[in-house]
Amino acid sequence: MSLATIIDGKEASARLKSAISASVAALKAKHNIVPGLATVLVGEDPASQVYVRSKQKTATAAGMNSFQHDLPASTSQADLLALVRKLNADPAVNGILVQLPLPKQIDQFAIITAIDPAKDVDGLHPQSAGRLLAGGDSLVSCTPMGCLMLIADVAPNIAGKNAVVLGRSILVGKPVSLLLLNENCTVTMAHSKTQDLPSLCRTADILVAAVGRPEMVKGDWVKPGAIVIDVGINRIPTPDGKGRLVGDVDYAAASKIAGAITPVPGGVGPMTIACLMLNTLKAACQQHGVTDVVVPTRLPSR
Ligand code: NDP
Repeated sequence: MSLATIIDGKEASARLKSAISASVAALKAKHNIVPGLATVLVGEDPASQVYVRSKQKTATAAGMNSFQHDLPASTSQADLLALVRKLNADPAVNGILVQLPLPKQIDQFAIITAIDPAKDVDGLHPQSAGRLLAGGDSLVSCTPMGCLMLIADVAPNIAGKNAVVLGRSILVGKPVSLLLLNENCTVTMAHSKTQDLPSLCRTADILVAAVGRPEMVKGDWVKPGAIVIDVGINRIPTPDGKGRLVGDVDYAAASKIAGAITPVPGGVGPMTIACLMLNTLKAACQQHGVTDVVVPTRLPSR
């Protein structure tokens, strides 16, 4: 039996996407501007192909232009840099997303830092990360932003709450921690060297798990009534060989104790793509100096 409120990421992302579509339509009607998202895929990794197609489809469905660049796995760093520079200079492109990971011969950091920060809709450029650290307005990476929106949707005022973030990656753990700090939470960032994780987790009013370890967080690690955001996506083997997706939290046990919890799949995942669309809209407005079109900062109410 589940006692927790299930935080439905699909429903939440549909709400956000509908608000974004309305703003995209307003941008076109008022200013004749259509946001453009360029996605770059190097190689043929099946998971990356699925992610990129889904991003393109969502952009088109929101009324944006989608420009896809598929490059062979053998692409050189120089050729990829040349494409990024071309996209930087293209006024029809407001957001650039280079799907990660990249093949071994390409230095990922060199590519990320070559993207114009104004078009950095993945929020991974050091300038975007630095602005988040400094508390300024920035393009925030999509998964962390999605986590914050889901939290704010169930708890509009989290000032003073204890937040524990499991994981300190540039992609998830660090930006989630900064976003929670900017909301005036007292934040502890835990990692693989942290001692006594169960006790630490039990202090958390808000617990964000982003470690990539299947069901590591047990039910008795969760403080009764806590908000639990499970970012992890792990495929575990099943007898039929197809595998099954689970998060970093033992959902069955934790959902009996938490106050609100995200499932996997169907929690944080769907918010990531919706937030990419939000960043593309925001980037388009900023690049054109548009201030009279709504760029949502929270999930619209139900
Ligand atoms: P990384 O592997 O980059 O980082 C994992 C972090 O977890 C590290 O900081 C690591 O610590 C920490 N960690 C690992 N093992 C333990 C442990 N036993 N105890 C405590 N901390 C531990 O992963 P990402 O941040 O990129 O992703 C995390 C998870 O989120 C993955 O499952 C990934 O698939 C998922 N994800 C989901 C997304 C979505 O849209 N839903 C988007 C992005 C990621 P240390 O630094 O000490 O090594």
